[in-house]
This record gives sequence, structure tokens and C-alpha cells, in this order.
Amino acid sequence: MGAVNFPKAFEKRVQEDLFLGQPLLDALDSTAPVSVRLHPSKTKPELDFLSEIPWCENGFYLKERPSFTLDPLFHAGCYYPQEAGSMVLDTILRQIPISEEPIVLDLCAAPGGKSTLIASFLDGKGLLVSNEVIQPRSRILKENLAKWGYSNVVVTNNDPKDFERLPDFFDVAVIDAPCSGEGMFRKDPESRNEWSEDNVQLCAARQKRILADVWDTIKSGGYVIYSTCTFNSLENEENVDFAINELGAELISIDLPRPIRMGRNGSGHYCIPGETEAEGFFVAVLKKRDGEIGKLKYETKKDVKQLTGNAMKDLKLEEFMDTAHHDFFQWNDSILAFPSAVSQQMQHVLSKLRIVKAGTIVADIQRKGINPHHELALHNNLCTYSKRIELEKDQALQYLHGDTFSLSGEHGWQLITYQNQALGWIKHLGNRFNNLYPKEWRIRMRV
Ligand code: SAM
Repeated sequence: MGAVNFPKAFEKRVQEDLFLGQPLLDALDSTAPVSVRLHPSKTKPELDFLSEIPWCENGFYLKERPSFTLDPLFHAGCYYPQEAGSMVLDTILRQIPISEEPIVLDLCAAPGGKSTLIASFLDGKGLLVSNEVIQPRSRILKENLAKWGYSNVVVTNNDPKDFERLPDFFDVAVIDAPCSGEGMFRKDPESRNEWSEDNVQLCAARQKRILADVWDTIKSGGYVIYSTCTFNSLENEENVDFAINELGAELISIDLPRPIRMGRNGSGHYCIPGETEAEGFFVAVLKKRDGEIGKLKYETKKDVKQLTGNAMKDLKLEEFMDTAHHDFFQWNDSILAFPSAVSQQMQHVLSKLRIVKAGTIVADIQRKGINPHHELALHNNLCTYSKRIELEKDQALQYLHGDTFSLSGEHGWQLITYQNQALGWIKHLGNRFNNLYPKEWRIRMRV
């Protein structure tokens, strides 16, 4: 028995459900596994690995939960602690037939578990629009995606309805819908107190609204990956039926390794604690039927100006980065890098939605030149700056805490690294330095 009891109505429903039954309740009172997903190209952390997660490249179970905060590589975006069930998305993305440069929407994206997975899958190709409707949560999403370090990402803060401004735009939409959260009853026992039958009904209605609101933003022939972390059919199989019957979706079959099992009536797939080493997770893949795709006319945002010719030369960005394969834009005092292959699509998104982060901010414009930006430091391959100072773990944690300490090195900009992985910038002044690690990212606990 866990410290918090199950809500009575939930317990009764699960016991009476032939699909679930008492074994699920017993599993929800056992210990949750710990898992992480590694960044595909950053430094591999020294964690206590137990085994690989069979349905996700770079996904690993750990023997126990370490203090992630006290590992500088966590702050450098070298890995993301993520529940193993959610990582099924990796197998799904590899199975659905999509173009080489797909445009992907992650509609309910904060704090960024699925978005960092999608960014790894895309590996710099195509475009990810990562959206979160709740503003404070969109800022956490921005931080996690900045640390993950890809420039083919736009973070937005919009209601699903706003996506009607982008008709026929996305090849894939991931809808990890807000839900009643029954699948989190083990990892977060307190969440049992928030559950009610009324909330299940409310969530199911909201999920239908979300599906309907974004249906037109998906291209004909495109895909919706619908998921929740709950076990009831109202929020899962019945919403798949809604998409099939009311929106004209087609249910796509995906081959997932056992013990992930098919949903009720063969609709979607479940990770069930006790059977699968994961928390509760439901996922179904839907296809929007083929049809005419209207020709898109891309728009631009007036105050975002592309930098070319002399304006580019004057900035001397080459001192800090490889400028090939990107287009550069000035927005207020920031210089943004967008991959050239999707720069038109990114500008179009900027002109239609509320933007939290666009591409990679590579520098801020100052009166006397440019200051390199921390998003550049954390990018997975853009920054080529050669003046670097490698720190030992204790000093790296002090740096991430926002401290200054005595450090030998040349005057000027220096990139701080730990195990060869960039953490951020300092401005060296001789025997001391200005710590430029962003205030809002600093470690708050004593290090
Ligand atoms: N995909 C995220 C991840 O993997 O880290 C987790 C997303 S969580 C299950 C659902 C998200 O939907 C929350 O961030 C929540 O703020 C957001 N949300 C809440 N109400 C919403 C609404 N009406 N429309 C869209 N998203 C909503």
C-alpha cells in the first residue's frame, strides 16, 4: 500500500475492468523505474546504467535516481530524465513514412520530454514547432530546448485554436494531451488526490476539442500521434473513435515490442506498469486522409530582418561559429540563426504565432560589437569558438551556481567546458571573470 490511497471510484473501476484489474493497482504501489534519454551527439554522462530501453535509441534505465542537479552534463543538455513509456514515440517516428525534412508540431509540449526526443530524431533536419499554452510552462520548455541545442526549433505559446492560422502546414502533430494522469499514480502518489470522475469527463471533452482545433493545420496524408498518461477508455480509445468518426481519421497500426500491448478493441497501444518497465502511457497513430493540399504562400514578420552582405560582414560572426547552412536574422537586439533549408517556414510560423524562442540566438548586438549568446554555447554543433577553459566538476558546479573564482586564462570571451561539453560563456578580465551563465538557469541549491 502506498502512502496515499487510490480514489475509491478509480480502484473500483480498475478492479472491474477486465483489460486492467488488480495487478495494475498492485504495480502502482511498487517502485517506479528511473530512465534517461541521452543526447545523440553531446558527451555521454557517467550514470549508473542498468539496461537499454528496447523502444528508444539512446534510452536507458538507471540503477537508481542520482541527483541530476549536481551533474554539470545534465545542465549542458547531454541527457533528459524521461519516463520510459513516453520514449515509445521514438519507435513510432521511425515507423511512419514521412519526408526527409518533415515539419512537426508538438502541441502540448512543456516541459519538453517529447520535444527533445523529436529534436533528436530530426537531428537538425526539417522543423519542430514546440507549443505550450500555459505561459510559465512555455519558459521551462524554452530552457530545455535551448539546452538540447538545435536551431530547427520554434517554441510558441498558443492555444490549439490559434493553429487554424497555419492550414495544411504540418506533416506530423504530436498531441500529448493534458489528461487525468492515472498513469502517474506511482511516480507521483500525491496526484491520486487530484483525480475525480468529473475530471476524467472534463479531460475527455477537452481532448476532443484539442483534436478538432488542430485538425486543419495537418497536411492531408499527414499524421497525428495522440497520447495520454491515463488508463480509462474515455480519454483514449473513445477519443480515437471520435477522430475516426468525426474528423475522418484513419487508425494506423504500429509494430511495438511486447510487453507494450494493444488497446481495447485493438485501438492504440498501452504501457501498463507491472507488465512494461514504464509508467502508464497510451498512444495511437492517426492519419489524415489524402486529399488536395492548398499551395502555401509563406509570410514574414516585419520586424525580423534577414542579415545579408555588409551587415553580415560587419558582425564578424565567423569568430564564433560556422555560418554555412544557416540564414541569420535580426529581431530587436538579437541575432537568430535558422537552418537555410527551413528558414522560410520558420519565418512563416513567426508571422502567425506568439513566439517564445525562434531558432538559435547566436549573439546580442551591443554598441561595440556583439556578445555571443548562451544558446550558441549550448548548440550541438554551431559554435566553433576556440578559446575554451575546461573545468573540474567542483568548479563547473560553482560556475553553474553563478559564482566567480580565481581562474587563469586569456582576456576576453572564453567558453567554459566540462568533459569537453560547453556550459556557457565568461568574460575574462585577467585574474577574475564575469560569470555570464543566465541568472534564471543557475543552480539554486548549495554546491
Ligand atoms: N509533452 C510533454 C512532455 O513530454 O514533456 C508533457 C505534456 S503534459 C502531458 C500536457 C501539457 O498540455 C501540459 O504542459 C499542459 O500545460 C498543456 N495543456 C493544458 N491545457 C491545455 C489545452 N487546453 N490545450 C493544449 N495544451 C494544454
